[in-house]
Amino acid sequence: MPTKTRYSLCLLFLLLSGLVHAERSADRTLETVRLQLKWFHAFQFAGYYMAKEKGFYADVGLNVEIIERDPKRNNIQQVIDGEADYGVADSALLLYRADGKPVRVMAPIFQHSPLVLIARGASDIVDLGELRGKRVSYQKGLDDTPLLAMLQEAGIGAEDIEYVPLDFSGQAFIDGKVDAMSAYLSDQPFRMRELGIDFTILNPHNYGIDFYGDILFATDKTLDESPERSERFMQASIKGWQYALEHPNETIGTLIANYHPQSSREHLEYEAEMTRRMIAPSLVEIGYTSPSRFYRIAEIYQSLGKLNKQHADKALKSLIWDPDEQMLRSLHYLNIAFVLVGVLVLGVLAVLLVNSRLKNIIAARTHELTRQKRMVDQHVIISETDLEGNITAASQAFCRRTGHAEEELLGKNHNIVRHPERPPEFYSQLWAQLSAGNSWDGDLKNIDKQGNPYWIHSHIEPIRDFDGRITGYRAVSEDITDRKRLEIQSATDPLTGLANRLKLDQVLEQEFARSKRYATPFSVILLDVDHFKSINDQHGHLAGDTVLKELATALQLQIRATDLAGRWGGEEFMVICPGTTGDSALACAEKLRQSVQMKRFPAVEYLTISLGVSSFLAEDDSPVTMVQRADQAMYRAKSSGRNRACSEPPGLQKMANLD
Ligand code: GH3
Ligand code: MG
Ligand code: MG
Repeated sequence: MPTKTRYSLCLLFLLLSGLVHAERSADRTLETVRLQLKWFHAFQFAGYYMAKEKGFYADVGLNVEIIERDPKRNNIQQVIDGEADYGVADSALLLYRADGKPVRVMAPIFQHSPLVLIARGASDIVDLGELRGKRVSYQKGLDDTPLLAMLQEAGIGAEDIEYVPLDFSGQAFIDGKVDAMSAYLSDQPFRMRELGIDFTILNPHNYGIDFYGDILFATDKTLDESPERSERFMQASIKGWQYALEHPNETIGTLIANYHPQSSREHLEYEAEMTRRMIAPSLVEIGYTSPSRFYRIAEIYQSLGKLNKQHADKALKSLIWDPDEQMLRSLHYLNIAFVLVGVLVLGVLAVLLVNSRLKNIIAARTHELTRQKRMVDQHVIISETDLEGNITAASQAFCRRTGHAEEELLGKNHNIVRHPERPPEFYSQLWAQLSAGNSWDGDLKNIDKQGNPYWIHSHIEPIRDFDGRITGYRAVSEDITDRKRLEIQSATDPLTGLANRLKLDQVLEQEFARSKRYATPFSVILLDVDHFKSINDQHGHLAGDTVLKELATALQLQIRATDLAGRWGGEEFMVICPGTTGDSALACAEKLRQSVQMKRFPAVEYLTISLGVSSFLAEDDSPVTMVQRADQAMYRAKSSGRNRACSEPPGLQKMANLD
């Protein structure tokens, strides 16, 4: 994390803590914590009393219970066991830590240990070597280390002295039963002086053995779980110490009044002075920890065989609590929280973004669909009907093509646009196909509102509901009127309006193929006007044209709807008769011949025609050979007197001659 960010986060954290404190002090809801002392009430713990009495603890939201030492119990273990949150102990904390106990140094209050040896005698300068073989009384265990280290410095081992267990009253020393005893600078020297006993102080400090004295400590659990509260507690305690050292008399007064110490006021004054020396506030900031001193202390423990190097190294790594580090660790979690919140916010933003993008896409698609629908409505001829063929919907294009307004169409039957020329069978076939659930494709000839014909190519299919039931029909159509017109033009003889040669050839091929495939009868009739040259010659070419037109109309009237009449060329015509046997075709030819003979033509009065009939015969037949046979038959009709119908082969023929 960049330093700047770190500082910003620290600042934020402190600000938040500040707010929390302010709030706490405001509503006076104090959190109770317990401080376990290492001895009875004395000036030794003055800072804690004053922090409490002067409200420094309360200012940071704490109510601190200060618990006096129970000599029968291990005060460090009491803190480890959670009986108290914080405790006061000495450098032995390092041994506890090395032994796997979860204790950590918060703040060494006493920069120097007050533990000394006092030896009987008047001289201040005593050679430590004189203690060899003497009775020395101290408490064996962890507390004896600075003393043993001091003796070791003088070349005196534990075996070189006569050990006498310590009596805490100091009576053995007073009675001269021991030569030296361990003592607290702040305590026994005063007592001995009061009793008028000469003594000499042997201070390990003077031999380079400088242990920390009272240290404020806590367990890993407390410091990890409540780093911020521990910091508050520590800072308020240090503030209390500053106050106590600056106001010793007031402090002693408070101590006497509220904590009932065993010592007299004079003693307490002495203790205050000694305590000041141990704390050395003018030299070192109260609570300052020097890791290198703990390294030195660890070395001394090792030299006395109380600690091995491996354990010492391990313990030293984590012995000292660093609230900043702890705070940064909290900030690290805060960072993680920030990152998580950030990720969450980004996630939400992403969802919102995707959502809004989706909305945009949907809006764009909807807009596009609406546009397409409008385009389709405008340009595609669409109509829908119910099952009875009543119009239920019609596109704008449909309305435009038919010339009807939408409201005129809705509810009307679709046959409103049907061209009357189309036979009803055509539509019944169409409806049958649709009703069976099939779609239908084909060309339809319709009429518009004005009665003008138009052609469409339609694709019609059933409309189904969710259950698949047919509820109506939808036709999507293409206007093919222009194409149809061209088609008709290219297939029509301009003079007579009948099918032209091209069309006749096409239909001939088609019908021949159909007949061959389905083995249905099929015939053609070829006919030629008799002596037409002379008509032209006598009445002129235009009159000849008129005659041809009249003849075409006469033919058209006589043939069946399924037959096709066309101009074969000049004054020759052909009638294609699908599904017609040779006999029927010959009968038809005869009918044609008679009708022409009976008809009166304006310019020429009388007119006759000669006809030749042929039918599809066998597998190897072809349209060409069929026409050739019809031509032969017609030639025979001409050669045998004209105004007659012949067939080829002649066996089928039924010659008619009304002459
Ligand atoms: P036949 O009885 O043997 O058929 O005698 P015909 O005079 O009819 O002889 P043919 O069929 O060979 O004569 C065809 C004549 O028809 C030739 C031509 O002058 C005339 N003709 C062909 N096409 C047209 C046309 O479009 N208009 C007019 N007015 N006459 C045509
Ligand atoms: Mg001719
Ligand atoms: Mg002719």
